[in-house]
Amino acid sequence: MSDVRIIDVLVVGLGPAGASAAAAAASRGARVVAIDRKRVAGHPVQCAEFVPALIGQQVPALDQHRQQRIRAMTTFVEDEPPHLREQFSGVMIDRQAFDAALVARAEQAGAEIWFGLSLREIDADGTAQLSDGSRIAAAVIVGADGPRSAVGAAVGIENQVLAETRQMTVPLLMSFEETDIFLSHKLPGGYAWLFPKGEVANLGLGGDPRWRSHFKPLLDDLHTQLVAQGRVGSDVLGHTGGAIPSGGMLEPVASVGTAHVLLAGDAAGLTNPITGAGIMSAVISGEMAGEAAAALVAGDADAAASYRDDLADMFEASLARAVARREALMRLHDVGQPGPDDLRRAWIAFPEYWAA
Ligand SMILES: Cc1cc2nc3c(=O)[nH]c(=O)nc-3n(C[C@H](O)[C@H](O)[C@H](O)COP(=O)(O)OP(=O)(O)OC[C@H]3O[C@@H](n4cnc5c(N)ncnc54)[C@H](O)[C@@H]3O)c2cc1C
Repeated sequence: MSDVRIIDVLVVGLGPAGASAAAAAASRGARVVAIDRKRVAGHPVQCAEFVPALIGQQVPALDQHRQQRIRAMTTFVEDEPPHLREQFSGVMIDRQAFDAALVARAEQAGAEIWFGLSLREIDADGTAQLSDGSRIAAAVIVGADGPRSAVGAAVGIENQVLAETRQMTVPLLMSFEETDIFLSHKLPGGYAWLFPKGEVANLGLGGDPRWRSHFKPLLDDLHTQLVAQGRVGSDVLGHTGGAIPSGGMLEPVASVGTAHVLLAGDAAGLTNPITGAGIMSAVISGEMAGEAAAALVAGDADAAASYRDDLADMFEASLARAVARREALMRLHDVGQPGPDDLRRAWIAFPEYWAA
């Protein structure tokens, strides 16, 4: 059996949450090791690559990853005329470059970074077993390992509700600066999207996994319609997909043996269950988890509880609204077919969504 390496903070996952956590903890003087099972930062991309403009406050170098600007959101509800919501300001990013830049920032802050290395399990005493046979004992383990977090599973905290997605990248023939959203009773618990990214666009959809078998024909149909309208080309330049937590915020603090465990990003259920947006909350929660981890290492025993409270203050209300709207819509799907008014009540562009 290999020797156990002793460090301050082990970060599992180097997506936006983990890279932000590693940077925050290392810049506060903690000895940080951060690992990811991927071979290359941010690859493969499993994302539609839209971020709200506000994320620029968290990631000052955002402009370097900007592919195009977004000014508004157009929502198509069934066959009704489109609804335009102005002042929906955001950026389409190069997600792979964005993730890689966050990892580089963590490395510059002093974190030791390993790709191609995964967490296998966490022993009852808190020792992490890695895929290369090595073992690490950390005072704090940050679980930033995505929707199906192994760290979360080790402490019994797991996303119970996950949406599934399917996306293709297609040539964009008519440029535009809106995110197009398609709502239909045919896509329970989700929606379809067309997000422009310069000369290409991300065309995808997601929803409740029980309707998984409908996803491919629905996406192919939408693609065919958009080709017929002359908006996108018929070539498919790439495919991706992935799971999106849709059950709302989880308990983000636990312990195993002598190790504190902090969950961040998708592992903490911080992705919006209606929109599927989770990059910004991953960056913010990752930074907060890294700060809390460094504080725990420095002897501040209250830092874990403060992390939980601060996360709840920041995210719980908006996530709870999204969960309630999604659940109400799913109940309608269970007994029949939701109409356009029901679909509007479950989408952020409409005042009905924000009403009491
Ligand atoms: C198709 C799709 C489209 C999306 N579009 C958008 C969008 O346009 N805008 C938006 O804001 N959000 C979007 N999201 C959601 C967004 O991608 C996530 O919320 C975000 O990536 C969460 O970041 P994270 O760091 O928490 O997790 P992730 O980015 O999932 O990173 C987790 C990392 O952990 C690693 N890992 C997992 N298990 C282990 C292990 N055992 N050991 C080591 N490493 C491990 C993984 O390899 C991964 O790199 C989309 C999601 C999908 C699936």
